[in-house]
Amino acid sequence: MTEMRRVTAICNGSVIDHIPAGAALKVLRMLRISGKSSNPVSLVMNVPSGKYGAKDIIKVEDRELTQEELDRLSIIAPHASVAIIRNYTVAKKRSVEAHNELVNVAKCTFSNCITHGNREPQSHRLTVISVDPLQLRCHYCCRAQDMDAIIDNLL
Ligand SMILES: [Zn+2]
Repeated sequence: MTEMRRVTAICNGSVIDHIPAGAALKVLRMLRISGKSSNPVSLVMNVPSGKYGAKDIIKVEDRELTQEELDRLSIIAPHASVAIIRNYTVAKKRSVEAHNELVNVAKCTFSNCITHGNREPQSHRLTVISVDPLQLRCHYCCRAQDMDAIIDNLL
């Protein structure tokens, strides 16, 4: 656990581990954590990791991430895990779970898709075709999604 000492231990909150190196800022965005939220957040990027070469770690104090919030990360951090910390000890562990469908996580990458029209607001539904590597298809226009472009379409 020496790598965890790079960030001071937190009393209460969530530690998100095994984020792909460089993706921590996107993870914060997906969790809607910004400089405006009052919770202290610490972020470590490019920590050497045996499993995936390098990884990012985020610690959010005084906030316990739910399974639903965590599952939103499947697009950019499918191997992420979260430790819920209470009184300096791990109270719960969670990992990202793959679902059959991602609802309101990202927009379809085709700009002429019905979901981009304002007339009839649709929920954004992406069907998971494959988990590793992740492949998605739009529920409405049925087109396979460009997995690089979809990062810019996160909601
Ligand atoms: Zn579409």
